[in-house]
Amino acid sequence: MKSEQKYSLETHLVQLGVGTDERTGAISPPIHLSATYRHPGVGESTGYDYTRSINPTREILEKGLAELEGGARGLAFSSGMAALTTFFLHFTQGDHMVVSEDLYGGTYRVLDQIFANFGLKVTYVDTTNTTAVAEAITKNTRALLVETPGNPLLGISDLAALGQLCRERKLLFAVDNTFLSPVLQRPCEFGADVVIYSATKYLGGHNDLCAGVLVAREEELGDQLYFLQNSTGAVLPPFDCWLLLRSLKTLTLRIDRHCLSAMLVASWLEQHPKVTDIYYPGLKSHPGHELSCKQAKGFGGMLSFRVESDELARAVLKRLRLISFAESLGGVESLMTLPAIQTHGDIPEAERLRLGICESLLRLSVGTESVEDIIADLEQALGD
Ligand SMILES: *Cc1c(COP(=O)(O)O)cnc(C)c1O
Repeated sequence: MKSEQKYSLETHLVQLGVGTDERTGAISPPIHLSATYRHPGVGESTGYDYTRSINPTREILEKGLAELEGGARGLAFSSGMAALTTFFLHFTQGDHMVVSEDLYGGTYRVLDQIFANFGLKVTYVDTTNTTAVAEAITKNTRALLVETPGNPLLGISDLAALGQLCRERKLLFAVDNTFLSPVLQRPCEFGADVVIYSATKYLGGHNDLCAGVLVAREEELGDQLYFLQNSTGAVLPPFDCWLLLRSLKTLTLRIDRHCLSAMLVASWLEQHPKVTDIYYPGLKSHPGHELSCKQAKGFGGMLSFRVESDELARAVLKRLRLISFAESLGGVESLMTLPAIQTHGDIPEAERLRLGICESLLRLSVGTESVEDIIADLEQALGD
């Protein structure tokens, strides 16, 4: 893009990196693998010195991510957990955070088994209940971290109300937006200070890349997070930056299809006699449906459902032909998991059961294959 004209998000995504290589005019930006850069003289610099600190390919990606999110600074990491870990390093001993209880298992693990040793305190609450969040705030609380839709039960937290609460109580408001992407939900517009992604999921979209992202709404926090990124070094390598840039160009197309298909699959599962519960924010029966309509442009491609028995859940996973029984989500290939054993296996059993993550609960990442084929696979796997 040549001008500073305001284009739509969709256009920005497609045009990422175009026109950044002035020397050749390359449409696809080059991958700069150089670890270090030659200085013209003492006290002179091309603007690049060492690739952990700055890399031209990563720079295109990071600037693009900030722009997509409406934030001041984007940072790309080697995984979603690296992004989350870097965010947690922003806090010090004795600080307290309020965190969604319907949470990615790895986030729970790093807080509970690593950051707890350094004196970072965490209270897990049902963030779909704003009052419960307010009640969990103590004098040492510094931040609120929310995942919405939640994982794996897809609960919807009220971003506007929580943003307001964080402003009033002077808390950092962080949102893990992995399940929806900026195409569907832009937390900065609701006052989020930091938006977090596992870019391994929808942003990457092809199950071939592990990456993470932090976007800070304000320059000052962005600079502080950059200091942590550069100091601790979990940066995304140049080749992976390029791969993520390429993936982002089709994000809108992919997300549209994920949403369309997930809605059809959820409606189909809802009327299946062996499915006892279904969790998809697009369904009118979902308690967060109305709120989701207000704060997101779509409901995403993730859904969970409970079947009659634990045995049936295991049988379904065994019988799947098209859909892969595999961890992760957000790629073009449909994947199904058993959260109690896999993604949420590190949450203590009693806590897991209290949350409703039992062994008859299956989570499906609806891919972009023909939706008829996805439904046919579910039909044969559920048996008659
Ligand atoms: C997968 C995931 C993460 C962790 O990201 P990795 O890229 O696997 O390190 C964090 N949050 C959510 C919501 C996720 O789905």
